[in-house]
Amino acid sequence: MDPDPIDMAMEVRNKRILHWSCRGLTELPEVIRLHGGHVKEIYLKWNELTTLPPWIAELYNMTNLYLYNNRIEQLPVELGEMSQLTVLDLSTNRLQLVPACIGNLKNLRYLSLDNNLIERLSVELSQLNNLEVLSISGNQIVTLPEWIGSFPKLRELYVDGNRLRELPNRLTIAPNLTLISACENRLTYLPLNGFLSAPYIRVEGNEYLNYISYPLLQQLYPHLRHSLIFYKDACKDVTSRYFKTHYDTNGLSIKLHIKTKDFFPINYDATIELPRQLLKVHEVHENVTCSLLELALRKVYTERYKHTLDIPVLSEKGKVTVFYEPLLKNTKLDFILSTNHILYSLLTNGPTSICVNSQCQQPIFTEAWIIIDMCNPTVWRTITIALCCSRSCAIAFAHSNATNNPDCHCIN
Ligand SMILES: [Zn+2]
Repeated sequence: MDPDPIDMAMEVRNKRILHWSCRGLTELPEVIRLHGGHVKEIYLKWNELTTLPPWIAELYNMTNLYLYNNRIEQLPVELGEMSQLTVLDLSTNRLQLVPACIGNLKNLRYLSLDNNLIERLSVELSQLNNLEVLSISGNQIVTLPEWIGSFPKLRELYVDGNRLRELPNRLTIAPNLTLISACENRLTYLPLNGFLSAPYIRVEGNEYLNYISYPLLQQLYPHLRHSLIFYKDACKDVTSRYFKTHYDTNGLSIKLHIKTKDFFPINYDATIELPRQLLKVHEVHENVTCSLLELALRKVYTERYKHTLDIPVLSEKGKVTVFYEPLLKNTKLDFILSTNHILYSLLTNGPTSICVNSQCQQPIFTEAWIIIDMCNPTVWRTITIALCCSRSCAIAFAHSNATNNPDCHCIN
């Protein structure tokens, strides 16, 4: 039975929070337009709405809008006029695109688009400078844009159950992240760098992910120790060795092939795919120097973003503020960088890694000397890799205390 219009009008007049979930609503009742200018929150979960009326924008006091589990396929552009909105829950609907008008909701702090049919995030969302929680799990997203790492206040990012092959490198220099949840994707690698804000990272259910970088391992280890998901091997031995590697590159990615059976009784060969930013990998026996491109990137980045190079290896939250300075200054080098999109993105997305030699800490962008390590920190056996900026740093790192078993190294 439909609710009595007079009762509804009374309810709207008397309440600041409307609980209208599970009412079988197919459209937003006009009564709220007439009497609900003061309403702050409205719960419309478990209804049958397919869109919202354009007059929604007249609800000037509405800050929280909950639309979980409706049938929404599109939204009126007028929604973008509700700049007072702080919470918008559009989860479990039928959106195929993120409506561009959401980018105008400048005060939005919480946005959930979970369980829709979204394949990509529109660039307008990058304007949500007050966003603290972004939840886009259960969609069909293949690639996350790098700008997702530039939200100045973002604390929690949920991207579980998509089709992601990698996480944006710029997340490593995001200033306030405390949690990244990226379970059940198709990740082949994680960023090689440690994260500036040392967030808790969840990556269970990524079956192609078979290694982790040395800096990230240091950051994640306290969490991994307590995670049953990673509890694969209760062996108490701590073993660490280096391996000779060979690699192939098809121009798009570098794959390293690792044989461990010479060192362990188990027959465990692995192929690891390195992040696409890395274009060249040198072996330690090779007597080569860096390209000019790489040297230029390192120099410019170090001058502008020096504060991001001091990345904490402990899980405590870093107290570092990241400023995104414009790269346009009046030197010749800056001019070249600002007109070259690839170089510009490499710089703004942050280094692929930072040299693991603690005395050095140079940013590394496109080429590195790489050390493969088999790590077995009591409960979790994994391959880890460490990137160095030069041959001498690789040798210094291999002989430093950072490694568990320096006598066993077999770098060529
Ligand atoms: Zn170095």
